[in-house]
Amino acid sequence: MPVRLARVGALVCGAALCAIPVTAQTPPAAASDAPVITRDPQVTQALDTVSPARLRADDERLVGFGTRNALSERSPSRTRGIIAARDWIAARFREIAQASGGRMTVAFDAYVQPATPRTGRPVAVSSVVATLRGDDPQRGLWVMSSHFDDCNGDCKDPVGDAPGADDNGSAVSGVLEAARALAPLHLRGTLAFVCFDGEDQGLWGSQHYAKTLRAAGVRVEGNLNNDIIGASVAHDGRSVNDVARVFSEALPLGAVPRTVNLIGTENDSPSRELARAVREIDAAYVPAVQDQLIYRADRFLRGGDQESFTAVGYPAVRFVEGAENFDHQHQNVRVENGVQYGDLPRFLDFEYLAHVTQLNVAALATLALAPAAPVATLAAKKLGYDTTLAWNVVPAAASYEVLWRRTDEPTWTHAKNMGNVTTATLPLSKDDWIFGVRSLDAAGHASVATYPTPLLR
Ligand SMILES: [Zn+2]
Repeated sequence: MPVRLARVGALVCGAALCAIPVTAQTPPAAASDAPVITRDPQVTQALDTVSPARLRADDERLVGFGTRNALSERSPSRTRGIIAARDWIAARFREIAQASGGRMTVAFDAYVQPATPRTGRPVAVSSVVATLRGDDPQRGLWVMSSHFDDCNGDCKDPVGDAPGADDNGSAVSGVLEAARALAPLHLRGTLAFVCFDGEDQGLWGSQHYAKTLRAAGVRVEGNLNNDIIGASVAHDGRSVNDVARVFSEALPLGAVPRTVNLIGTENDSPSRELARAVREIDAAYVPAVQDQLIYRADRFLRGGDQESFTAVGYPAVRFVEGAENFDHQHQNVRVENGVQYGDLPRFLDFEYLAHVTQLNVAALATLALAPAAPVATLAAKKLGYDTTLAWNVVPAAASYEVLWRRTDEPTWTHAKNMGNVTTATLPLSKDDWIFGVRSLDAAGHASVATYPTPLLR
């Protein structure tokens, strides 16, 4: 991947100035043996730095570029169009990188998208990537993403106003804020904060990035994609400021043998386990927003950059606000019959956006602090009343937890820490329950759960 850029600048907003309280909130009490995420003071401290005021300022700055249509890339303007916006995002990341002690680097992932019948010409595409190097080179990469391109009512219009405050200035602001919150932290895993180009034109930037990582053999442990996360009022005026939708695909077509599919993995793809992990982390850290887990890759007629990751076999989820208003997406800015159309900052709720950003920060920090997920198997060569699981030794893991739930339950309902062992037999029928295994370090940071592959022969 083309990599160039360096770091300069300084943080612009202290935690005390912009803090919103989360540490004062108490997560709901859990049932007796329900899985629980241990709260880490350094994570709650990072969450407390997330600032609605800064999210608003960054979002309004992005809107100020007039249009961020990907086809505006030939504009020579330094104040209007996607290149001006791209350079501003890169400069923001370079400021943020100052707090990382040299561990965060900023780069463009640039290439030329060949002409299509729709575009009629090649398009220079450049996504912005800030990478925060983890302390453990054995651990993989976690990607928090957004897209910074946008559209008005005509995605081929490179000159007309396209404010894109919610789609997707909201998530670009969120990615910048998450990078700012996490830059000082030392995590095991490496984090990438990405603002993709060309999403509205066909997931261009994310496809290039995910394929490049795959070709380079990079182990992406998960992608948290954020697209339209800043508004909290539904089309009918309802306030939905306490829900974030988290979409996760089922098993990718052809990803597992049909024999395995038949015995219950269809609801336990790596993306879905990631979604369940996000919900547990949410319950521990950001009770102001509930995850609504949606067991679909995305909404009808819509898509997102997370699909570029799942297409090459990486786990990915998408965050979307609880209720969208389509009058405020991909619309020319206008008033029609007294109705204001257009994707304008006035329709955003920056407190809500701060909570969704905190949810991303908590998930990234927890999962990148945790040991890697184990590789697990389930003994299924003969009939039996118990269930025996086995897994590998994971570096930095101090113990392993077995999770289970009824086959018709959407999320894990039971957990048991088995200690520092690599096999466990539970007095539960493998026919009646779904199992998972996850690894924990000494401080209790838990990996995403692994669905154990049944050993049938
Ligand atoms: Zn979008």
